[in-house]
Amino acid sequence: MIKQLTIIGVGLIGGSLARALRAAGYVQEVVGVGRSLTNLQQAVSLGVVDRIETSLSRAASDADMLVLASPVGAMPEVFAAIAPYLSAKTIITDVGSVKGSITEAARTHLGAHFRQFVPGHPLAGRESSGVSASLPDLFQGQRVILTPTAETDAAAVKAVEGMWRAAGAAIVTMPVAEHDAILATTSHLPHLLAYALVNQLAQAPATRRVFDFVGNGFRDMTRIAASDPVMWRDICLANRTAVLQAIGGYRGQLDRLAQAIETADAAELEAFFTRAQAQRAGLDRK
Ligand code: NAP
Repeated sequence: MIKQLTIIGVGLIGGSLARALRAAGYVQEVVGVGRSLTNLQQAVSLGVVDRIETSLSRAASDADMLVLASPVGAMPEVFAAIAPYLSAKTIITDVGSVKGSITEAARTHLGAHFRQFVPGHPLAGRESSGVSASLPDLFQGQRVILTPTAETDAAAVKAVEGMWRAAGAAIVTMPVAEHDAILATTSHLPHLLAYALVNQLAQAPATRRVFDFVGNGFRDMTRIAASDPVMWRDICLANRTAVLQAIGGYRGQLDRLAQAIETADAAELEAFFTRAQAQRAGLDRK
């Protein structure tokens, strides 16, 4: 049970966590912190948070559990702003989609409080953003990856695990670098490809006609291109090395395809598609 839960950035993920914990009766009071009063007032009227705190210093000093749920690029400035006001009791965690750069920013800014910080990433989301898109069951049956470092306090990890379990999620723990390498291929690359595919069609000479003829395949592949551009800008920049590696790998696959088509290599094309088909079928059985 958390006495005071403070969410910095009450949007889709922060709002959904607050809703889930309230529904589970796992939290006494939820405090919302953010830049825009309009968003926070909406969070109050939707019953997502109990009250608004406009001062980051007060938010930091009073919280038992402090969850950073802002875009990845904003995390360093938030760490810097809260650091002087943290008390020894406060457990700090985040929900950012990249873990390496956020962990380094926390190490830089939190000083002795770094051991109270548990890096986290819920593997759940949707294309819409803002508190109005938040859902109490967003994390139900989903996984949350925690990437504690050697310095992280074991009791803090336990508390963050308990919070996510109360929100309905299962916990997976792994090293920071492994998280960023895996997510670059399973999440970051697919988002970039979806954006690129839409842009590729948008720049076609007969743009208007092209979009008249998109079918379910195109819609399935590009659903995530409706995601927030700021969030994806930040993720690309924060996980540059792994994302560039993933793009390079994908380019290699496209080159193989192009080569097989150019040389009319039917056997290579069929083998290429068969390998992928078998992997994809395996995914549905998981
Ligand atoms: P969101 O709905 O846009 O919510 C983010 C909130 O952060 C906004 O409501 C905003 O509230 C606040 N914020 C925005 N810019 C800020 C800034 N510069 N400084 C401080 N606060 C700021 O985004 P989200 O989808 O919940 O994503 C939040 C985090 O969750 C990101 O780090 C993302 O990587 C991670 N994540 C997202 C998903 C997903 O599918 N969307 C999944 C897993 C993890 P105010 O306007 O009140 O400041």
